[in-house]
Amino acid sequence: MTFKELLDYGKETLKKAGISEWDLDAWYLLEYAGGCTRSSYFLHPERRATELQEEQYRELIQKRSTHIPLQYLTGSQEFMGLSFCVNEHVLIPRQDTEILVETALPCIQPGMRILDLCTGSGCILLSILKLKPGVTGTGTDLSEKALGVARINQERLNVQARFCRSDLFAQVEGKYDRILSNPPYIPDAVVDTLMEEVRDYEPRMALCGGEDGLRYYREIIEASPGFLRPAGMLFLETGYDQAEAVGALMERSFDKISVVKDLSGHDRVIYGSLKP
Ligand code: GLN
Repeated sequence: MTFKELLDYGKETLKKAGISEWDLDAWYLLEYAGGCTRSSYFLHPERRATELQEEQYRELIQKRSTHIPLQYLTGSQEFMGLSFCVNEHVLIPRQDTEILVETALPCIQPGMRILDLCTGSGCILLSILKLKPGVTGTGTDLSEKALGVARINQERLNVQARFCRSDLFAQVEGKYDRILSNPPYIPDAVVDTLMEEVRDYEPRMALCGGEDGLRYYREIIEASPGFLRPAGMLFLETGYDQAEAVGALMERSFDKISVVKDLSGHDRVIYGSLKP
């Protein structure tokens, strides 16, 4: 088959399967399986694919048709301009979460210690450490398999971080200057209404935030003051409708509380400073 025939097959199959970004995904998978860039494709669309390329492409298209997320098939997702390894054990890093990192970065100086709770792929902690030399940090997660992915990313990005298995702060020692988290925050009952890619394939434990979605915010906000140095700050990603409730939880121990909106205009990040 030629690359053009393969691409047409991919697009058609994904479209029929109801994959929303069928066009783009057929492309990405062709790049991945065929090792061909867009420009090389357009120069020689009639070039023949090898049998192996064709076989691999068909297999990937079949898998994507069952709504397995694209990133679990290619094994990677870009975050803060860096490439992160992902698999079914971690949430796929989201663009919304870049806002959390972008908000925290100007408040982080060399010499500081950072704690990232529910680190998943490690995308939050590792991108900060990569972009801010001289900063050290710890990432925790309840899932040992997620931590395995975070450690692969740490090696890939060549930064020094410590990862430990911990139920939030349970195994955390010492004090930190900045605590960040994108905890699971979807109300349990809402998880089943999400798109198939998320609902059926991303780890439930990375999504389910208890009955009202606020379970982990309560625990994190309650315990954070004990793990922050004076003038420490807490940064949290929230669901689009949760910033007010999370802000109310923060008021007791934090001041200078601010909310940052995402690109769709929804509240997405909330942060504050530990009260003196
Ligand atoms: N911190 C990780 C991320 O932002 C994982 C978040 C989670 O599992 N809820 O992608």
